[in-house]
Amino acid sequence: MNLILFGPPAAGKGTQARRLADEHGMIQLSTGDMLRAARASGTELGKKVAGIMDRGDLVSDDIVIALIEEQIQQKGADKSYIFDGFPRTVAQAEALDALMRRHGTRIDAVIRLEVDEARLIARVEKRFKDEGRADDNPESFKVRLGRYNQDTAPLLPYYQAQGKLNGVDGMASIEEVGAGIDKALRGVKRQGKKAIHAG
Ligand code: AMP
Repeated sequence: MNLILFGPPAAGKGTQARRLADEHGMIQLSTGDMLRAARASGTELGKKVAGIMDRGDLVSDDIVIALIEEQIQQKGADKSYIFDGFPRTVAQAEALDALMRRHGTRIDAVIRLEVDEARLIARVEKRFKDEGRADDNPESFKVRLGRYNQDTAPLLPYYQAQGKLNGVDGMASIEEVGAGIDKALRGVKRQGKKAIHAG
């Protein structure tokens, strides 16, 4: 099963992706983590994206698509992946669908973490104080939210049209959100079995 964890910045995607990876033996693919790793090791790519990331803007589609493709090629398309923070534009979603198809696999479900903006802002203020992540500062976070609303939210109708969108309340505790995701995934698996029997 391949999943996309979808939601605005600071919705809890990373936390839940790590939990799913640990508990369900899936592989987390976070383009944000990959880009931060590139910066930390001082690669050309890291240097190229540093300013864009700190500002809260989106890195170009080509760069993140190539990162994801590389991972799937290395690890194999027979694994179960959780995409975290990717795709973030319709072009990325189309490229991901095409990539999965080329590898004989597919995205099975999109789990949308629903968190209202006031809660996101409160969370990120706390995270900025606790962890000091540069792009959590108020100006950059405003840009990130703006990018989400403008470029990423249009993916909701894209995945709705594919019948893959599952909403989960992301406002509760980490454990409760995790339980909500597991419940949604059980529903996806049941639907998958029905589809196989019907087909
Ligand atoms: P994240 O940790 O997912 O919030 O990502 C941190 C930053 O990395 C974002 O604000 C973007 O600058 C960049 N980034 C991560 N994933 C993507 C993506 N799929 N498309 C474009 N930029 C991305």
